Amino acid sequence: MVESRCGILCSACPYQDQMGCKGCLKITKPFWGDSCPVKSCCEERTHEHCGRCEDFPCSLLKQFAYDEEQGDNGKRIEQCKKWMGK
Ligand code: SF4
Ligand code: SF4
Repeated sequence: MVESRCGILCSACPYQDQMGCKGCLKITKPFWGDSCPVKSCCEERTHEHCGRCEDFPCSLLKQFAYDEEQGDNGKRIEQCKKWMGK
């Protein structure tokens, strides 16, 4: 059910087809850069997703979620909460 570390729903992401991305949990490196700081942080802390983190939602996650161009106005944070049953 969990599709990413940050709360993005990879199954609904157009880049899966456009960029041949296999989705957050299956990739080691995103197509858009050398590494994703959110994915790296979450995996280093061995959390399934950010919603399980004691610092959730941290400033890094919020920065990604509310980025004017690449963000989703907090949708991924809400998704993490849903994965936690909240
Ligand atoms: S932004 Fe990072 S954590 Fe979120 S889906 Fe993409 S690679 Fe994964
Ligand atoms: S909420 Fe922030 S600190 Fe916690 S795992 Fe995610 S990126 Fe890392």
